[in-house]
Amino acid sequence: MNFLTLLARNLWNGPSTEAFPFGPAVTPKRFRGKIAFDAPSCEGCKICERVCPAGAIRFTKTADGLGFSCWHDTCVFCGNCEFYCPTKSVHQTTDWHLSHTQAEKYSMVESGLIPNQVCVECGATALDTAPSVAAVKPPMSAEEVADLRGRCPKCRAKFLKARRAKS
Ligand code: SF4
Ligand code: SF4
Repeated sequence: MNFLTLLARNLWNGPSTEAFPFGPAVTPKRFRGKIAFDAPSCEGCKICERVCPAGAIRFTKTADGLGFSCWHDTCVFCGNCEFYCPTKSVHQTTDWHLSHTQAEKYSMVESGLIPNQVCVECGATALDTAPSVAAVKPPMSAEEVADLRGRCPKCRAKFLKARRAKS
């Protein structure tokens, strides 16, 4: 293709680049951006913390429960946490708006809390984590899962044992 044809084609097609920051920028659907955490669906297994190569994810025991934090300025966007999370409670969004001032660096964090609860059966204080029931046979109904959720780990195990014995 000669130069003039190429020039004419490029003029006809227009710019191939994004107009950003003076116009919208297209974000690919599979873009690996900011981490988001959904505490109610988290099982509290801490796999995400173990597989994070950057040490960006931390769980901290507090008086109110189990705190989750993910530091966006430490994350390397590898996707390990989402890949290994059994419930996808931690996942990558397509949000890439991460530029920040030096003063904001300590607030670039996604945080959440799995609160404490009182076990409906024995009264012990335990975390209100989502029960891990994906492999339970026969599959549990939503009512059973809600019932199980209100219990501490020991009472959950008893509940599941009694259910197995019945089936
Ligand atoms: S976010 Fe997922 S991997 Fe991390 S503790 Fe919760 S359930 Fe486990
Ligand atoms: S995407 Fe990778 S570096 Fe970022 S929090 Fe998840 S596991 Fe850690």
